[in-house]
Amino acid sequence: MAGTLYIVATPIGNLEDITRRALRILAEVDLIAAEDTRHSKKLLHHFNIATPLISYYREKEQQRAEELIAKLHAGTNIALISDAGTPAISDPGAIVVNMARQASIPIVPVPGPSALTAAVSCAGLIPGEFLFVGFAPPKSTQRCTLLRSLRDLFYPLVFYEAPHRIERFLKDCLEILGDREILWARELSKKYEEITHATLGGLFASLNTEKLRGESVFIIYPPTVLPPSSDTIEKMLEKFYEQGELSMKDSCKEVAETLGVGRTSVYQRALHIWNKR
Ligand code: SAM
Repeated sequence: MAGTLYIVATPIGNLEDITRRALRILAEVDLIAAEDTRHSKKLLHHFNIATPLISYYREKEQQRAEELIAKLHAGTNIALISDAGTPAISDPGAIVVNMARQASIPIVPVPGPSALTAAVSCAGLIPGEFLFVGFAPPKSTQRCTLLRSLRDLFYPLVFYEAPHRIERFLKDCLEILGDREILWARELSKKYEEITHATLGGLFASLNTEKLRGESVFIIYPPTVLPPSSDTIEKMLEKFYEQGELSMKDSCKEVAETLGVGRTSVYQRALHIWNKR
């Protein structure tokens, strides 16, 4: 009989956050696959868990996943953990999970801490929807391309960011997304935890190097002005279409400028109207 692959969440700072179930599974499985075995040894030692460890990190994910699947086929029960939080959320894990599913190996999530849920839980998002982006690309050109593609979405955007990139990240966000509200959740569950609600411009202006240490999640709220509904956009486009004075391209330009919305989303709707007749 095949073993089970457990996906186990571990603390993002405060060791008290580990769940009783996580401790039991980590003690009971035959093997723990960990992103950094030296790092995880400290966690396991703290809880007197002596289960053998094997490394499972991004650069060797494919090869290691194949090895783990062979062990699972042979009946080994394996727990996958990352350095902190929930595996496969901006962390290795997805490859072995996909392989296990294809091989009909049981996969059992053991939920627990994640910087994502911790930050979102104190962001007061109404109605509760958000877009998790994770890490933006490290290079500014690619980061700006991504931010432009997100600019017209009316969702709070959740980013992870490394300390040494925070300043450049905020600068690009300010330039492309505008001066929106932002929540900066730093060092969650740790001694110097700090949750700051500010505007992007205010935050960028007040950055100091002390604050740039540690782990951070950023939640950038949507623009405060409600975007025009798709109904409004459609009605304007219909009007231009019926009048027949402007080309589709010019109609889109006119609608986008009048309503202050991105041309791409207007263009998609215009295509429907111009193509269906
Ligand atoms: N899988 C993890 C999870 O579930 O949260 C995330 C791993 S990702 C490689 C690491 C990033 O998560 C950090 O760069 C930071 O953006 C965020 N993070 C992790 N721990 C954090 C903490 N204690 N406070 C704030 N952000 C944290």
